[in-house]
Amino acid sequence: MRLKDKVAIITGGARGIGEETSKRFAGEGAKVVVVDLIDEADVVSEISKNEGEAKYIKTDVSDMEQVKDMVSKVKDYYGRIDILVNNAGITRDGKLKDISKEHWEQVVKVNLTGVFNCTQVVSEIMMSQGSGKIINASSVVGIYGNFGQTNYSATKAGVIGMTKSWAKELGRKGINVNAVAPGFVKTPMTEKVPEKVLTMMENDTPLKRLGTPRDIANAYLFLASDEADYINGTALEVTGGLTL
Ligand code: NAP
Repeated sequence: MRLKDKVAIITGGARGIGEETSKRFAGEGAKVVVVDLIDEADVVSEISKNEGEAKYIKTDVSDMEQVKDMVSKVKDYYGRIDILVNNAGITRDGKLKDISKEHWEQVVKVNLTGVFNCTQVVSEIMMSQGSGKIINASSVVGIYGNFGQTNYSATKAGVIGMTKSWAKELGRKGINVNAVAPGFVKTPMTEKVPEKVLTMMENDTPLKRLGTPRDIANAYLFLASDEADYINGTALEVTGGLTL
């Protein structure tokens, strides 16, 4: 019960890494608020069936008004927010010459503005509490770049910049801010990646496998727990050694 009674918001919490994180956090005693775009999140009923506590609030994190509304609902219901996992993210891949203005803007809106929106609103509450843990989803491609991912890698590098800035600004208010930079993980997001690219990634990984949502959920869990109380401003690579 490493998160007993902690109130945790998990964006993009209905699918992929976020879904696994919602289950993992609930299993460790957190009161989980799943935030996503779909109408209903099956993960909430699954958590309830297993005697965990979870709520779903449909929210587009790129829309500040929706974020404010979601956060005020969580505050009204639970009275506090201990953990924010800025996990929602999208890809619109293409070579530099093919990236449209629309695809550039969509990725920036969710991956950068969405993280900014949620953190700006939630950090006010955490500051008034004098405590909180914020974990942002970056990516290995935000550190090393990737063919066909100009827009995505720019946003994931930006997430690391925001993480480090917030670690400095919010650290003295009792809030830890860290990022996780996953390698390639099997989720609905990577279903769009050609099989031969995934096989290549697998072969290039010293552990000889792609990541699982649980591998990343475990890293989020560690950074959200009291065990990470002195970790602030880091970007934890969870890649199986892909970049060595
Ligand atoms: P995923 O399977 O696509 O799940 C992401 C979830 O976020 C989806 O449910 C998605 O809804 C939701 N979402 C998208 N835009 C949103 C918005 N504006 N507001 C609220 N929710 C939104 O992705 P994943 O693979 O689990 O990735 C989770 C995070 O890890 C992302 O930030 C991703 O960039 C990062 N990451 C993933 C990998 C990987 O290999 N999978 C590697 C490095 C980093 P829809 O399905 O309706 O879009």
